[in-house]
Amino acid sequence: MSTRRENLVEKWVRPEVRALGAYRVADARGLVKLDAMENPYGWPEALRERWLERLRSLSLNRYPDPRAQRLAGRLREHMGLSEDSALVLGNGSDELILLLCMAIGGPGRTVLAPEPGFAMYRLLAQATGSRYLGLPLRAEDFALDLPALLEALEREQPALVFLAWPNNPTGNLFDREAVLEVLARAPGLVVLDEAYQPFACDSFVDQLPGHPGLLVMRTLSKLGLAGLRIGMLAGEPGLLAELDKLRLPYNLNVLSQETATFALEHMSVLDEQAASIRRERARLGDALAAQPGLRVWPSQANFLLFRVQDAPAVFEGLVAEGVLVKCLHGAHPLLHDCLRVTVGTPAENARFLEALGSVLSRG
Ligand SMILES: *Cc1c(COP(=O)(O)O)cnc(C)c1O
Repeated sequence: MSTRRENLVEKWVRPEVRALGAYRVADARGLVKLDAMENPYGWPEALRERWLERLRSLSLNRYPDPRAQRLAGRLREHMGLSEDSALVLGNGSDELILLLCMAIGGPGRTVLAPEPGFAMYRLLAQATGSRYLGLPLRAEDFALDLPALLEALEREQPALVFLAWPNNPTGNLFDREAVLEVLARAPGLVVLDEAYQPFACDSFVDQLPGHPGLLVMRTLSKLGLAGLRIGMLAGEPGLLAELDKLRLPYNLNVLSQETATFALEHMSVLDEQAASIRRERARLGDALAAQPGLRVWPSQANFLLFRVQDAPAVFEGLVAEGVLVKCLHGAHPLLHDCLRVTVGTPAENARFLEALGSVLSRG
């Protein structure tokens, strides 16, 4: 029985899939969860009641609106999209990355992204049989290495370039002029992944009309709706119509569509939460910078990247103290001894700083 199972895997699972490493999610039970860039705040009780009231009217026996038109209209407004751009929604932006890799990547196609970067670009490029090329960022500040990038665009002719703006896990915004240069020189499509836009307050959406090869991707996850799985991809209508053919017809379920529409009607709540996360980011950054022997990088996202003497030991020490962050040591050579902490509530951040202080003082 078990031999037959092994044979099945070796015989039938495609080699590029077997070669992949799985995307692992840590078990956060009982821990202060500062590992996944979630918004730490819930909704006020009165708002929750109104939301639950809205859900009452839904029909679960019917398929959802296949195009989620009401939600899409709200999202277009939220993103400030002009009439000239189309919008495709995904079950999280992860699904949109898959869609892009299926439609634009594939055997014989190259997908390029700076590294260290978001892990799903590599995973989904390779899963779809594309050739994946990770181009190192500058070691000292994680800026784009523009000469190397432009040279790679020329030499490798990538079908698809992913730029996370701000970048995960480094937190920085690549220089705007450098990104414009990439847009001007890329032979294929360039996806600006603006997952952390609520914390950077800047965007390339205004560049869509003049750049047919530009796609802007967003998500509601980091804004406070990670559980809903809603991602957005904006760009040239002809191109998005092609991508839309590969989208599963009912990818956004009824509950997600209605809840996201409701949330966008109360954007001020989410906006205030994002503003308080930005304030806490500054406080947390200062507190980390004050720790001897620790280096923290500036961030325009809802997390901070920092380096310690021995990241795996500090990570385990923090877990023992009841705090979960992300250990990036081993994920990329430029991230040696790096940890990433998501900005939490003031109380969570205080817990984290206290735990870190006691782990570091133990040496
Ligand atoms: C978190 C993250 C995403 C994934 O967002 P979902 O919409 O939750 O799938 C995409 N890109 C980057 C850079 C991220 O950090």
